[in-house]
Amino acid sequence: MRTLTLPDGRNVSALGLGTWYMGESGRAHEGEVGALQAGVDLGMTLIDTAEMYAEGGAEEVVGDAIKGRRDQVFIVSKVLPYNASRKGTVAACEASLRRLGTDHIDLYLLHWPGSHPLAETIEAFEALQASGKIGGYGVSNFDVAEMAAWEKAAGPGASQTDQVLYNLSRRGIEWDLLPWARERMIPLMAYSPLEQGRLQDESLDFVADKHNVTAMQVALAWVLRDPSVMAIPKASNPTHVQANRAALDLVLDDDDLALLDRSFPAPRRKQALEIL
Ligand code: NAP
Repeated sequence: MRTLTLPDGRNVSALGLGTWYMGESGRAHEGEVGALQAGVDLGMTLIDTAEMYAEGGAEEVVGDAIKGRRDQVFIVSKVLPYNASRKGTVAACEASLRRLGTDHIDLYLLHWPGSHPLAETIEAFEALQASGKIGGYGVSNFDVAEMAAWEKAAGPGASQTDQVLYNLSRRGIEWDLLPWARERMIPLMAYSPLEQGRLQDESLDFVADKHNVTAMQVALAWVLRDPSVMAIPKASNPTHVQANRAALDLVLDDDDLALLDRSFPAPRRKQALEIL
């Protein structure tokens, strides 16, 4: 499995597993646990979750999926901005740990910028790291100006990643955030890399037919073409899990990329960071 190196030197699988909308229905629980386990078995050992998803339900699904295999996985979870005060962050993390059934979260992120002072959240993250409850910390949905403010408050290299919306139809970060992060060797984590399954275009179908894969696999391979980007597609369907794993090995050539560029152009000016 291809890996990326975080600023703190830890290696993480370039392709992981999302969990948004998991944990919402008891009937789906077993299937969701199975899909995550299938992904881990295929080497997709990065699991992304959040206290927000199904109000903790997704973390419980992850908790069941990692029983007996905690040491194989790298768990990312997120604190809601409303909870990100000095005390609130610690309490939120401890609640996540209980739901996950583990004693540590590998990477803990602020889900999006909120109103609590960054210094308070950072202080809590530092305390959690010092006590071993989190392995490292970072942010999500931060645009360049917010990243700069975080860097000022926490120091260079303190954010292990910025988890942001990135896929063929959401290329705004290529203008500034991606180069900004690359300069600092901070890998970005692409969420909704399949635009939640909504991507449709003739160019995608053409490239997919050429490589005998699906349009979604092309879309995922496109995100993964960048060695400084991790991707965390969510799949509850085991066929999708396998397809996503296979997409990591799909290499798009210059003709493919040029064709996709025509349908999904790169940004030509600053665009505000989009959020889902
Ligand atoms: P996504 O991964 O782009 O798309 C998920 C959808 O695509 C699901 O409906 C899934 O169906 C389907 N799918 C997955 N693999 C497929 C394949 N190979 N072929 C066809 N369909 C496929 O969207 P997302 O869930 O929004 O994003 C991924 C993860 O990023 C989330 O789950 C979450 O962990 C994280 N995220 C973070 C933020 C943030 O603010 N930080 C925001 C959004 C998402 P099945 O489930 O039926 O397989």
